[in-house]
Amino acid sequence: MKRWIYDFFNLLYPELCIGCESVLTTGENLLCTSCRAHLPLTNFHKTSDEKMRELFYARIDVQHVTSLFYYEKIGGSAADDSSIEIS
Ligand SMILES: [Zn+2]
Repeated sequence: MKRWIYDFFNLLYPELCIGCESVLTTGENLLCTSCRAHLPLTNFHKTSDEKMRELFYARIDVQHVTSLFYYEKIGGSAADDSSIEIS
């Protein structure tokens, strides 16, 4: 799509950040820069991958595993054991 058509359409129906619902600027996709900067980084790439390996133990066979951000599933039932919280 031509850039000016996209920009005009974006004036009428702006894309909103899924984190804070502010209007996204050019180059932002789904999350605004502020929300992206406040996501909690795991820094697992700087340390051992043992925490992540424990999560997948006996579920799937992995060679290497890491996570860039912490993840917490919201809205799952108490019986749902698929949510993963790393602390
Ligand atoms: Zn945001």
